[in-house]
Amino acid sequence: MIVIPMKMEELTWEDFEKIKTRVKGLILPVGSVEAHGKHLPLGTDVFAPLEISRRVEEKLKDRGIDILIAPPIWYGHSFVLNVYPGTINVKSGTFQKYVQEILEEFAKEGFEKVIILNGHGGNIYPLIGAAEEVVEKYDVEVVLINWWMDFKEEISRICSSQGHAGEDETSVILAINPELVKMEKAIGERRTRPVRIIKKDIGLDIFPNGVNDNPHNATAEKGEEILEVVSEKITNILVELL
Ligand SMILES: [Zn+2]
Repeated sequence: MIVIPMKMEELTWEDFEKIKTRVKGLILPVGSVEAHGKHLPLGTDVFAPLEISRRVEEKLKDRGIDILIAPPIWYGHSFVLNVYPGTINVKSGTFQKYVQEILEEFAKEGFEKVIILNGHGGNIYPLIGAAEEVVEKYDVEVVLINWWMDFKEEISRICSSQGHAGEDETSVILAINPELVKMEKAIGERRTRPVRIIKKDIGLDIFPNGVNDNPHNATAEKGEEILEVVSEKITNILVELL
């Protein structure tokens, strides 16, 4: 019996060819490289979906379902946070087209279900746009999961607030790798606007220092709880869908 490694990038093409017909679906983690306050790493929005993917793959395996995890898409659309160093913004149309072509490739490989596990808000519209284009042309279904939004209710039972580089995200990174978090610099507040304003430096107003929430009460325990509940919920959803 071949033991299936969970990551596509670790397979040879021959193994991939065999395995792709056996797995029930593919998880594509998508994130961004962007400022997350002075306390969180630039890769935060990729680290979270990668860890959730790992847990979901393990949980599905326990239930007798094999899936494959694709290499993540690191760079995303991040216009608003682009005022801070280290944010690498890909324009919405370019990002959409890029994701679309990747989805098309997976559809051509024969995957009937692609699960996009997204870690970044700015990606949502282009991801939907990309998926819509692909499902019209190919026999593929795309499941889009925005973990911090889709499981808001569960997360709000663990954290007193939610937001960019806030209590929830900071807790999750503390649980994944505490060495990457500078808690002494974890300060911020929630800022909202009644309407969406699009202007070049809007990030300075809405995300001062790259934060939009108070991360002060973040803990690794809360992060572990979030990762566990979100992974369990996603697993249950995928058991139904796959
Ligand atoms: Zn984030």
